[in-house]
Amino acid sequence: MDSSDPLKSYREKFYIPKDKNGKDVIYFGGNSLGLQSKSVRSYVEQELLDWEKIALAGHTEAKNPWLPYHEFLTDQTARLVGAKPEEVVNMNSLTTNLHLMFVSFYRPAKERHKILIEASAFPSDHYAVQSQIRFHGFDVEDSLIEMKPREGEDTIRTEDIEAMIEKEGDSIALIWFAGVNYYTGQAFEFDRITKAGHKKGCVVGFDLAHATGNLEMKLHEWNVDFAVWCNYKYMNAGPGAIGGAYVHEKYLNDQSLPKFLGWWGHDKATRFLMDHKYIPIPTVESWQLSNPPILQLSSLKASLDIFDEAGMKALREKSEKLTAYLEFLINENKTEKIKIITPSNKNERGCQLSLRIKSNGKDLYNKLMKSGVVCDWREPDVIRVAPVPLYNTFEDVYNFSQLLNTHNV
Ligand SMILES: *Cc1c(COP(=O)(O)O)cnc(C)c1O
Repeated sequence: MDSSDPLKSYREKFYIPKDKNGKDVIYFGGNSLGLQSKSVRSYVEQELLDWEKIALAGHTEAKNPWLPYHEFLTDQTARLVGAKPEEVVNMNSLTTNLHLMFVSFYRPAKERHKILIEASAFPSDHYAVQSQIRFHGFDVEDSLIEMKPREGEDTIRTEDIEAMIEKEGDSIALIWFAGVNYYTGQAFEFDRITKAGHKKGCVVGFDLAHATGNLEMKLHEWNVDFAVWCNYKYMNAGPGAIGGAYVHEKYLNDQSLPKFLGWWGHDKATRFLMDHKYIPIPTVESWQLSNPPILQLSSLKASLDIFDEAGMKALREKSEKLTAYLEFLINENKTEKIKIITPSNKNERGCQLSLRIKSNGKDLYNKLMKSGVVCDWREPDVIRVAPVPLYNTFEDVYNFSQLLNTHNV
């Protein structure tokens, strides 16, 4: 499989961390922090160099002028998430973007004030959503619906989400789901959830932290209202990388939407006239507040160049095989001790498998880490592993399953 892999050369484009014997680790942590590409240094250094040599003039005369730098990433970002170029922008960080988007898209009213969220959403999303509800003068108890799987099940059925929306939809202002749940690895059916929400007049947004660079998406076609993501997980843009945001075209010229404003959302032609009358850029860029961090944009540009060259379609094809192979080998082991809680349907998952360990899971995790595996432990009983199509191999998957066997006795 590795020798016939059309993407096999991509592993060479990344630094693979080494274990204490100098051997490549089995890096299955790309869902938390993607690896460093060998090219990123030259992208960042180019900007350091222009800053060193020409400083202020770099805004217009750097090799990649800083004033429009974020625009150099727009088309690739649009292809990455299946959107139109005017619908995407890279700015801020995920939770910050979440709040900025909620300013526009969570507008609770007396009869329609609720947010529908997964009970097992990422903590930052829960904190953000609770604070938004309170900010608008509502009670979390009355205004938050937390969706759980059925008794005895680990993931949420789409038909149950649809039924919940059908039942509660008239009081729901906003449906806020992950693209892929960080804990279970479940990928949600964007189009069905969006359709069900719109039918009841709800706004539908997605947190794509674990979906961007992992799934093939069609945000525009699916009619998703808005989305935000980070770029340090599957996107490999480095720790704390700049985040991304998407807003559907239909909102881009809606001046009735409340929005927090800053000068980077103002019309580019008149930005430097420095007057006080705000003219919005007619794209999602009007949600920008500040001039963006160029060093961060440059490391994301390095990553986008790689993703664009490999293509999400090819990456996803390999990813489905890698993850299916991992699932196959774990199931072959026939151990009672491990249960894969991630859906086995390939359309309901991305790279990641979440392994529920029946007992002493932390021990098993520690042994794996000591044997040169990088994965992570999530309380109370889950080991998350994510083979990533850009730099992981079928051999990585095989070796991991052997280690799992050895340590799981
Ligand atoms: C990783 C992750 C975050 C992290 O938020 P930051 O603002 O980037 O620190 C938030 N939400 C989800 C669902 C995540 O997976």
